[in-house]
Amino acid sequence: MMDLKFLGRGAAFNPAEGNTSAYILEGKRLFLIDCGESVFADLICKNILDTVNEVWIAISHFHSDHCASLGSLTLYCAERLGYKAHILLPSGDQRYAREIRQLLKIFGVSEDQIQFEDESAEMGFAAFSAVRFCPTRHAPGMVCYSLSFETQDGGVFYTADTATEEGIKAFLKDHPAFEHVYSEAIDARTHPVHLPLEKLAALFPEEQRSKVTVMHLNGPRCGEHAKALGFSVAQRA
Ligand SMILES: [Zn+2]
Ligand SMILES: [Zn+2]
Repeated sequence: MMDLKFLGRGAAFNPAEGNTSAYILEGKRLFLIDCGESVFADLICKNILDTVNEVWIAISHFHSDHCASLGSLTLYCAERLGYKAHILLPSGDQRYAREIRQLLKIFGVSEDQIQFEDESAEMGFAAFSAVRFCPTRHAPGMVCYSLSFETQDGGVFYTADTATEEGIKAFLKDHPAFEHVYSEAIDARTHPVHLPLEKLAALFPEEQRSKVTVMHLNGPRCGEHAKALGFSVAQRA
């Protein structure tokens, strides 16, 4: 099973829950999904970087609750720990590559302090054999990706922020015996940039919902509503 742990599980305006970010820790290697405002502080406070000597990072999109402490993390790796963090790039997306380069430059990180890697790079984690960036619709004019992991137990999908369930549908078609889905959801009937819980519920019969973890909670009612529908709810590690 892919052991994904959560540093935070909140939406952008719910800082009490920390920014939604998840990681896999295998020995001295860390795979991190998203690096919002609270993430670097959480990694330090939980002593997660103390034993790590290889960091891989996948950023879903450039809202600050998903990337705002990427500069501090990558600089800390380069200047304090003495290695370059590996930052994954979605294959063939020139705009994403340009924007993440700009972001790191603004944060004061030079290109020789980081290692960009194509999503097809050999990462060597036991939890998954491959990870792919899957484009999704989120905020207007913004590039945003979900992540699809090939795992021994049927595949794991991580929506990141999404306004649409189409990515989950496509994943389920290719992975009918899926291992787990981690999905954002919002406690609202309709929403322009996030996925209403009821829409998520419509994709999964009740007996499958324990294999679906809701994250990116916009408030306490969101988690309670998700549980009442039979979903799992992300818990901070
Ligand atoms: Zn967000
Ligand atoms: Zn967002």
